[in-house]
Amino acid sequence: MTRAAYANEVTNKTTPALALRHVTKRHGAGDAAVTALDQVSLSIPRGTFTAVMGPSGSGKSTLLHCAAGLDRPDSGSVVLDGYELTDADETALTRLRRERMGFVFQSFNLVPTLTVAQNVALPLEFAGRRADPRQVRGLLARLGLGDRIDHRPAELSGGQQQRVAIARAMLSQPAIVFADEPTGALDTQAAREVLGILREAVSGTGQTIVMVTHDPVAASYADAVVFFADGRIVDTMSRPDAAAVAARMAGLSAPAGRSGGAR
Ligand code: ADP
Ligand code: MG
Repeated sequence: MTRAAYANEVTNKTTPALALRHVTKRHGAGDAAVTALDQVSLSIPRGTFTAVMGPSGSGKSTLLHCAAGLDRPDSGSVVLDGYELTDADETALTRLRRERMGFVFQSFNLVPTLTVAQNVALPLEFAGRRADPRQVRGLLARLGLGDRIDHRPAELSGGQQQRVAIARAMLSQPAIVFADEPTGALDTQAAREVLGILREAVSGTGQTIVMVTHDPVAASYADAVVFFADGRIVDTMSRPDAAAVAARMAGLSAPAGRSGGAR
């Protein structure tokens, strides 16, 4: 390996998948302005699974939007896979999203007229690349969908559809996968399967995942939980267990005035 290649290798291993520094984002203007993120700093190491939790309105979606370059912070810096998003124009952001990020949503967002294999290959084809059919088949087999590749989404259960969406998000081995309530529409058993798959993608293949969830059991599959309240990170927990996460969330969700604070 050349010295430059070695230096590059070292940089790639040590640069976080995602780093936010002092990110502030306001929605609206004037008296109606809401500070959705207030000086948020956060670093997501490569190959880790992070859960983001917090009461409704605490800034979780705004965090994901700023991290993915879908929202521009008012101040602060967002560096994804070594790229400063706050300097990038829309064309560059679109490219970064296509090439370096994967997305999984609560509603699976599959194209109903396409087969499972075609859905999985779609983002890569949008990026102007051809999906290797063997790779698509291999990934689907790994996610327990080997006998479903020619089915349409409507022929699958919710859990199966979400596994297709996960395969679609991970095919290009993006630097980071953002998942917003990925188990929100699933029953307990299907949710467990999906969480097991996300966990395995991190432990087995080194995928980096950031998942917003309100479910303490879902969060317990992560390596760490970051707790938001009022646009700020108020706590973090590593190797979380569901009971501890639930207890922490109960504290955060207490109605204003009952927690003994001055607000
Ligand atoms: P969460 O995902 O944790 O529920 P959000 O990031 O969606 O929180 O919202 C954070 C705050 O910003 C909330 O007070 C919300 O009402 C406000 N907000 C979010 N998006 C907008 C928007 N497009 N316009 C105005 N206010 C918004
Ligand atoms: Mg939200």
